[in-house]
Amino acid sequence: LLTAAGVSKSFGDVEVLRSVDVSVARGEVLAVIGASGSGKTTLLRCLNGLEVPDSGRVSIGHTSVDFATRPPARELRALRDRSAMVFQHYHLFPHRTVLENIVEGPVVVQRRPRAEVNAEALALLDRVGLADRAGAYPHELSGGQQQRVGILRALALRPDVLLFDEPTSALDPELVGDVLGLMRDLAAEGWTMVVVTHELQFAREVAHRVAFVDGGRVLEEGPPDQVLRHPQHDRTRQFVRRLL
Ligand code: ATP
Repeated sequence: LLTAAGVSKSFGDVEVLRSVDVSVARGEVLAVIGASGSGKTTLLRCLNGLEVPDSGRVSIGHTSVDFATRPPARELRALRDRSAMVFQHYHLFPHRTVLENIVEGPVVVQRRPRAEVNAEALALLDRVGLADRAGAYPHELSGGQQQRVGILRALALRPDVLLFDEPTSALDPELVGDVLGLMRDLAAEGWTMVVVTHELQFAREVAHRVAFVDGGRVLEEGPPDQVLRHPQHDRTRQFVRRLL
């Protein structure tokens, strides 16, 4: 469903991604792990055109963008519309209610009927036990609740692929479980997900494949058991040993 081929990206003189290849099948969960600064966030942002790669190609479904030359804005938009991002710091609109945060994208960007989207959003909130907070503002929620709203906002866009950028790393430890629990449910429902995470336990239990990023490359990737328990490379072994 998603493929990135030969994706490179530099900021000034700093080569952050060096010809990265990744692919994710429909219904698959790919966990992306690696040290701080290795390029994981940049890779995720390149997958949905929030960051424009210097070269390579990214395809989601039938939408394929070639970055050999700078693509037209319309192509980037088409690529962006196929995925939805969940951010480390939630990025909810502070002056909109929980419900408004969820319905904004589908109504304003996708031009879907507000009544229908509202009903869907309320059903989503109900599912995660937050229906009674629909009229609250983000600052009135805990971090874990805000992040679950962030995830619902992404779901409401009905994307082909959900992209998660360290979704639990800003949370107090006791709030992490609820968010990972929701992500686990989404994986079980068959959502296609790319998850940048430091939660190796989650990667081991939920991901179908794990990619270890090091110095802007995917150094190794494979089933969680292989990458996390029997890594091929010393760098992976050192990283995994520190976190597991
Ligand atoms: P972390 O786990 O800390 O979030 P990461 O693996 O996600 O790290 P990236 O955020 O992708 O790493 O960053 C990789 C490198 O690119 C870092 O050295 C970072 O400073 C640099 N970088 C990222 N974005 C920019 C930018 N917009 N301008 C300049 N340098 C950037």
